[in-house]
Amino acid sequence: MKKKIIVLGTGFSAFRFVRKISKNLYDVTVVSPRNHFLFTPLLPSTTVGTIEFRSIIEPIRNVNGISFNQSYCTGIDAEKKIVFCRDADTNREYSLAFDYLVIAVGEITNTFGINGVAENALFLKELSDARKIRTKVIDCFENASLPGLTEQEKKDFLRFAVCGGGPTGVEFAAELHDFIEEDVKRKYQDLAEYVEIILIEARDSILASFDKKLSEYAMKIFRRQNIVLKTNSLVSGVGKEFITLNDGTSFRYGLLVWAAGNTSTDFVRSSGLETDKRGKIITDSFFRVKNNGGYFDNIFAVGDCAAINDKELPATAQVAQQLGLFLARYLNKEGRVEKPFNFKNLGMLAYIGNLKALADTPQFKGTGFGTFVLWRSAYLTKLVSFKNKVLVLFDWAKTFVSGRDVSNF
Ligand SMILES: Cc1cc2nc3c(=O)[nH]c(=O)nc-3n(C[C@H](O)[C@H](O)[C@H](O)COP(=O)(O)OP(=O)(O)OC[C@H]3O[C@@H](n4cnc5c(N)ncnc54)[C@H](O)[C@@H]3O)c2cc1C
Repeated sequence: MKKKIIVLGTGFSAFRFVRKISKNLYDVTVVSPRNHFLFTPLLPSTTVGTIEFRSIIEPIRNVNGISFNQSYCTGIDAEKKIVFCRDADTNREYSLAFDYLVIAVGEITNTFGINGVAENALFLKELSDARKIRTKVIDCFENASLPGLTEQEKKDFLRFAVCGGGPTGVEFAAELHDFIEEDVKRKYQDLAEYVEIILIEARDSILASFDKKLSEYAMKIFRRQNIVLKTNSLVSGVGKEFITLNDGTSFRYGLLVWAAGNTSTDFVRSSGLETDKRGKIITDSFFRVKNNGGYFDNIFAVGDCAAINDKELPATAQVAQQLGLFLARYLNKEGRVEKPFNFKNLGMLAYIGNLKALADTPQFKGTGFGTFVLWRSAYLTKLVSFKNKVLVLFDWAKTFVSGRDVSNF
């Protein structure tokens, strides 16, 4: 009889794993509240309509030979080899037995417990987040178009704040800038002069994980694009109308996008599994989860939710995919893999607006339009299906020819 693998999640690690694992050897069931894979590197582009939402997702049911349950995993009984689940829609609870368990549940956005963030800011992690941002951006412009508003009121509606100068915050600010330059100036002609984008970052520079020169280049370009950089600044509170910073200043805002970092999910926190100081599940180099000084031989954790005990790896899609692939190969060989995981660093890319991008790779460091072409080509090839590639190409062409769609629905 085939051994039963339960996979938790439909993100980068899980999707790569599920595609590669042998369905002849294993009976595979995926449990995740999200019934699709999401290509997050292009998520910022969907917030202003450069790319449409459905172009960057792939239904998990398109993977042949697996079962899927649209549910949250809520707990694990490692001894009895059972996971407890709750249906994402009906809240119905049930349990599933496993021979092997693969935990790939990722992380959630960290609000750091700052007052008002959860209630008033928008996150950028899921497609539903991007949809909310897109609606809110357009609402801000429609609100600012109402008759009888003072100049100050228009400015307040059109002050877009982004908290977090990592790749997510930077790419969102860049996309918003493009939207204003290329679409607002045509579709909301009188409003462009009132728009302000503010990027708030706790460190003294943005894109701190990139080479220093690239990070400085990005700051120079942002300043040239009139994006206000508030470095060395922390948000201390967010109200319905005001954002307050740690220096005591506050300002009104129309939209706040919060991309200040990630933390572990409630599931991981309450799982009883051993975690490190960042809340990540500790594993060995074969991704076996730590257990009382040893390691489980049938419970694995991969991706952003996990950390290899003697290696520091970045929480990126590139890493998550490589981990998922390695684990599938490991289980396909039924554990007969001698060499532990070794991360192959392909480098980092980031879009900074106005057809410019950054590349920080082991081979070269690049900036400008050439790197923007590389950025687009790299992500086009990395999209997981032919359908996605065609749709994204079409979206880019459509945006170039007729601009972004500002319909609100
Ligand atoms: C806007 C944005 C842009 C990014 N850009 C880049 C980039 O350009 N390059 C790059 O390398 N990385 C990028 N990243 C980071 C990258 O997306 C993550 O590192 C990667 O998704 C981690 O993969 P994962 O499989 O660990 O988790 P995820 O992809 O986050 O997937 C986690 C999965 O677990 C599911 N899940 C959650 N809780 C449960 C539960 N209790 N039970 C079952 N399932 C559960 C979720 O629904 C989801 O399907 C970006 C991230 C974001 C948000």
